[in-house]
Amino acid sequence: MIPVTALSDYLYCPRKVYLRHVLKFIPPVREPVVKGKIKHDVFDAISKAEESMVLGIKPSDLGNLDVIYREAYKGLLENSVSKFEEDIRKSELDKGKVFSDALQKFLDEASYRARFLREMIEKTGLLGQDLLNAMPVKQKSELLLYSTRLGLKGVIDRVEVFGDVHVPVELKTGSMPREGVWLNHKMQIASYILLLNEKMKSDHGFVEYLDYNVRRKIVMNPFLENDVKELIEKVNRVFSSDSIPGVCDNVNKCRSCNFKDKCSSNG
Ligand code: SF4
Repeated sequence: MIPVTALSDYLYCPRKVYLRHVLKFIPPVREPVVKGKIKHDVFDAISKAEESMVLGIKPSDLGNLDVIYREAYKGLLENSVSKFEEDIRKSELDKGKVFSDALQKFLDEASYRARFLREMIEKTGLLGQDLLNAMPVKQKSELLLYSTRLGLKGVIDRVEVFGDVHVPVELKTGSMPREGVWLNHKMQIASYILLLNEKMKSDHGFVEYLDYNVRRKIVMNPFLENDVKELIEKVNRVFSSDSIPGVCDNVNKCRSCNFKDKCSSNG
């Protein structure tokens, strides 16, 4: 069974699939990767903490909800920065600066969430489990899915649940295309939709470009489903091959590839 991340790697460069998934090379820790890991980790922690935070809101908290949420999100960021301390050190970053650079984004996110909840409570008068049940979007994070039929497995960053419809959301750091999403992100979301569809209802998903606060939609269709299945076949061929695929002909990709040191030693 191949991981969904191998599909993205293949679209970047088939040789990368071989280095990471067949030869099991581990890429060196680099600054954008560390910062991306921390952002992902905080968003995951927020998703997991959301239920208990909502259940814990008391009528007397309403005026302070913004402060409560900002403090909670700040604490989650502190935890993540400590969790990745070793990676921060290896990539020669300053721990305090990593924290302060990321802080404003999470404080803005906290204020947005607190405002949404306060308005909902004022409008409905609900609290506790009733408030949680009435929330339009429920979230599951780090959902592990697999399909023996597709020969595919993956962990989805976040799944938003609207009634019985499940919507995968992939959080991405780094650049964003002028329109739509990058092809590897599209195939990743399409793969998650197919995996979700094995057990539940799902027909679209989103890529959230964290550095731009922009969310872009991907809708499943028969052509896209076919593209995913063809890509799975191509990746399977690399997995079962005895030889490493040739080098990529795009020097820019090689320059920013996190396997470039391992790659040259295997040319
Ligand atoms: S360095 Fe270039 S050829 Fe090697 S895996 Fe990365 S993109 Fe492919």
